[in-house]
Amino acid sequence: MRMTHAHMYSRLLAGDPEYNGRFFTGVLTTGIYCLPSCKARKPRSENVRFFPTCEAAREAGLRPCLKCHPDDFARGADPVLESIEALVGEIRSEPSRFPDVPSVVRRSGFGATRCFELLRQHYHATPADLLLRARLEAAKGHLAAGRGSLLDVAGAAGFESASAFHAHFRAQNGMTPARYRELGRGGPIRLDLPADYPLAHLLRSLGRDAQSLTERLSGSVYETASDLAGVPATLRIAFSRATAEVTAVSDHPLGPAQLRAAHALAAGILGLDQDPAAFARLARRLGLARLVAGRAGLRVNRTAGAYDGLLWSIIGQQINLPFACVLKRRLVEALGTPLPGGLRTLPPASALARLDPSDLRPWQYSRQKAEYLIGAARLVADGTLDLGSLQGLSATRAERTLLAVRGLGPWSVNYLMMRSLGFPDCVPLGDTGVTSGLQALLSLEDRPDTDATRRLMAVFSPHRSLATVHLWQFNQPPP
Ligand SMILES: [Zn+2]
Repeated sequence: MRMTHAHMYSRLLAGDPEYNGRFFTGVLTTGIYCLPSCKARKPRSENVRFFPTCEAAREAGLRPCLKCHPDDFARGADPVLESIEALVGEIRSEPSRFPDVPSVVRRSGFGATRCFELLRQHYHATPADLLLRARLEAAKGHLAAGRGSLLDVAGAAGFESASAFHAHFRAQNGMTPARYRELGRGGPIRLDLPADYPLAHLLRSLGRDAQSLTERLSGSVYETASDLAGVPATLRIAFSRATAEVTAVSDHPLGPAQLRAAHALAAGILGLDQDPAAFARLARRLGLARLVAGRAGLRVNRTAGAYDGLLWSIIGQQINLPFACVLKRRLVEALGTPLPGGLRTLPPASALARLDPSDLRPWQYSRQKAEYLIGAARLVADGTLDLGSLQGLSATRAERTLLAVRGLGPWSVNYLMMRSLGFPDCVPLGDTGVTSGLQALLSLEDRPDTDATRRLMAVFSPHRSLATVHLWQFNQPPP
């Protein structure tokens, strides 16, 4: 039986979940289509068009809503993913309930092989990785709250012994738990670098945009504009062979929350939470030791935040690096605000959101790039796209969320996921550094296309992000 516009509109106003899948609601003013039950603001009747399927809505030029995920619904809910997400939620909220890997497998309700497979696919991790990360995060929370002795903290987070806690914490955070607890009591934050840390590679990467207004490398001192728990600041990292000394400077007061954010940001830039040794072993097993030769300790160095990565992954599409640097600089010059020390902040999403694509024309942005950039900024500004939450999602959910943003394709999404969100098993498909690296590494006649890239990169799972940064370096002279 055909439903009338008025009937469907009344079900939309009621947010009736019974009608999910029976029609999709397209809102012409926002260009979004939703499920009838969507909690987003209700559109006026004259701005709504109803569609029988997601496909029909997409054909009309509309995009799926990031709140109600109509495509997920249309595909049929994803109960396996949901149960894995629920499992990881439990591990993260109470890691001490899971003493070992078998307890994770038992709780998952899947067999061991399937459980490992699902966690690798959806979280890019083994059960042991997930457990360790959850314990370390829980421990950081206890340390920040100043609760109990170090032994109590280790036990509450689920570590078997104080020594295991100490060793893992120090490796992934560049400092002991005792020093972490002292953060915020003044003085610089000192991170110890691992013995094999390829500092020259990091410095080359940090200095690649010499004209940047948001970051600067002078000798072995790197400075970057940052947002430390909501406070704009200049983060300064002074490197020596064995340590990185971190300070934050701001016009606003910086408390313990900001200093912990500064620590997390610096540890991310250094990539301390990654396991390059595991990747090097894999490369050797594959007979590809030359991929890691001379830089076995290389890490994915993270951007100074997800918003930074988002802007860059749109600005950098389809153009060469020097031109991308120029485009970014113009934006920052016009819309960033000065920080102490001479750097500027990134343009706030709210400021970008107010622009019209034609405003970016004098700065040599293509119409399309300007539309993508402003569109993404609007999603951030109105809270539809919550960049801060992406890191905690499953990789699958983060990828779906980002792919629904107009202007973000597989390259941008994977670039953002590996460089800004820290997912370890991503490939920015279509990246010329990756394809030319593969061509040289494997002595191929031609640069691989997207399908071939996907196939060739599969052997590096679950370390494809590290494989990507090694391929970027493969044709470069050593720094
Ligand atoms: Zn919606």
